[in-house]
Amino acid sequence: MARQQQDELVFVALGGVGEIGMNMAAYGFGPERSRKWIVVDCGVTFGGPEQPGIELIMADPSFLEEIADDVLALVLTHCHEDHYGAVLDLWPAFERPVYCTAFTAAMLAAKRASDNIVDNVTVRPMQVGKPFTVGPFTIEAINVAHSIPESCALLISTPVGRAVHTGDWKLDPHPIIAKPTDTERFGQIGADTSTPIALVCDSTNALKDGTSPSEDEVAATLAALIAESPHRVVLTTFASNVGRVVSIARAAEKAGRQVVLSGRALHRISGIARELGMLEGVPPFLDQDEYKSIPRSKVVLLCTGSQGEARAA
Ligand SMILES: [Zn+2]
Repeated sequence: MARQQQDELVFVALGGVGEIGMNMAAYGFGPERSRKWIVVDCGVTFGGPEQPGIELIMADPSFLEEIADDVLALVLTHCHEDHYGAVLDLWPAFERPVYCTAFTAAMLAAKRASDNIVDNVTVRPMQVGKPFTVGPFTIEAINVAHSIPESCALLISTPVGRAVHTGDWKLDPHPIIAKPTDTERFGQIGADTSTPIALVCDSTNALKDGTSPSEDEVAATLAALIAESPHRVVLTTFASNVGRVVSIARAAEKAGRQVVLSGRALHRISGIARELGMLEGVPPFLDQDEYKSIPRSKVVLLCTGSQGEARAA
């Protein structure tokens, strides 16, 4: 059979390879001239000193526009900006359903509301361990630990081969409010030799030697520091690191302090997390207006701007 007519599984990196951010990939299945595609992630990267005046950069959508009729879905591994920040901008290029977990869907809805985006993005639920089929692709979300809730790796299966697309991951035996990376499932997938398999794996600093501390070690250190502080405590973190926010809230409660949130993103994301039941047992957070009325030894101020962003809000 001519090669052109054979079914193949192909991978196209649209962004995020050899660079930090802007993660976006496409998997195609079928003969060369009539492939069906799924897109995995759709992120942005931030302009640096080399791009004066530019705040956000996203993948070039021209390839997507070329294959638009054959794109079946967009699947999101998690909702860090470098994996989902361009969804609302690039979705009109193909207008296909977006598969993601409940937390990512809520974050996407909040982003739509705050940016006044009118496009009605079709969102389909994705749950860990419940594979779903999109055209010739079967996709299974696998739990991975990361610094944001509900991060998933994807097992993408087709009749000619499979790919494990890891997304961002960490081997943390004790993450806060999340389950550890499902190494057992990865082992099973690796042991199945029925069809060829590729590992598409990229995570910031994954090539550095050594181990990262577990999130529960960070929680213990934070608790000790907060307990021994005599005066005000001010902390900053990524607003999306809900596990870290919970660690801070628990440490504050133990030390007899209330947590005041300062920053739009912290309010928005902790609101979503509370609605989805991720903050069970965590006392309500206070707004910054209440900060001045609480004695300095009874408060923890939690702020956005952890990367020194000039306009963090
Ligand atoms: Zn990430």
